[in-house]
Amino acid sequence: MHQQIIDNALGAVGNTPLVRLDKIAAQLGLKCNLLAKLECLNVGGSIKDRIAKAMIEAAEREGKLNKDSVIIEPTSGNTGIGIAMASAIKVKIVFFYMKQLLNTTAKGYRCIITLPDKMSVEKEAALRALGAEVVRTPTSAAWDSPESHIGIAKKLEKAIPGGIILDQYRNKNNPLIHELSTGPEIIEAIVSTPSTPERPSSGKVDVVICGAGTGGTITGISRAVKKTHNKDCIVVGVDPKGSILAVPEALNEEDNGKAYIVEGIGYDFIPDVLVRDEVDSWVKTGDDESFAAVRSLMRNEGLLVGGSSGSALCGAEKWFATSIGQKVGQTEGMNVVLLLADGIRNYMSKPWFLDMALHAEPSDLSKSIADVLKP
Ligand code: PMP
Repeated sequence: MHQQIIDNALGAVGNTPLVRLDKIAAQLGLKCNLLAKLECLNVGGSIKDRIAKAMIEAAEREGKLNKDSVIIEPTSGNTGIGIAMASAIKVKIVFFYMKQLLNTTAKGYRCIITLPDKMSVEKEAALRALGAEVVRTPTSAAWDSPESHIGIAKKLEKAIPGGIILDQYRNKNNPLIHELSTGPEIIEAIVSTPSTPERPSSGKVDVVICGAGTGGTITGISRAVKKTHNKDCIVVGVDPKGSILAVPEALNEEDNGKAYIVEGIGYDFIPDVLVRDEVDSWVKTGDDESFAAVRSLMRNEGLLVGGSSGSALCGAEKWFATSIGQKVGQTEGMNVVLLLADGIRNYMSKPWFLDMALHAEPSDLSKSIADVLKP
């Protein structure tokens, strides 16, 4: 065990585990290794802690932030939680530093998050608990309309002195931090796990299956793996029905523009940081099948993950049904990695989760408990 004191919570971003999904693999009849990168174990609860930390630290290095800065970010919530967490920590550091050395009081970063209405109350609560101000925006507003979470953030940036949008949709540090951390962590875990007769391994990252929102995760991981490790790695993007990120365009025709419930993936525009050339193929997923996959991850693997993680597993099941997917799935030792982006903490009050948790069988007292408790 290697343990050291870390300076603050930001030191607990990254270095998440890669976990075998052996039970689910067996149920799907797979011979390959099905592996999951468990991003809910980042300190703020999602993969987006990585980019929040990276974007803030880069802006600080570049002199774009000062104590009067107001960080404003349009987000589906998780990036906001990472930014709010970093802002809360920085407040204390700046305050401490200023008080010690300049004998004055200073505030760190004020933080305003614009959040579409559909995003969970849990995310809003976490944001407010961390000290962020939250502005809800209509989910149905097109990305380039003034009412959207992006439009409102821009309006606030213009009007509020010190306002700055770090802009996860365009900030190069978004894909870059995945190229420098998430991707290399996956490679390292696979390379350093020996192949044994019981658990054969190709020693390579053979397939990565990953949802796309901004696309920073999939772009950055693809670059890391293909550039430095295995140029033949197959990168599969998962895009919800109703979104337009998938290629070829024809994939997006079914349910085009339809509202969907899963949070954090899919958009009505192509973010700059999503480089679709880095993605080899795409699958489309629906809400119900994604939530069924969440349940499977919980019941079979004990993983309390969020909706987009279900989409990743559901997307994997669909990819394994393709001809190349079938071949990979039936080859011992092939390593197929799923990105599980956040945890169920963000969705505990959502009907899709409560229905699954409270109303799934067995819903009432089982007979054995009822017998014991009988008056
Ligand atoms: N899943 C969840 C729950 C998310 O919050 C996000 C980020 N929007 C993603 C997946 C997709 O990550 P990325 O923005 O890097 O594509």
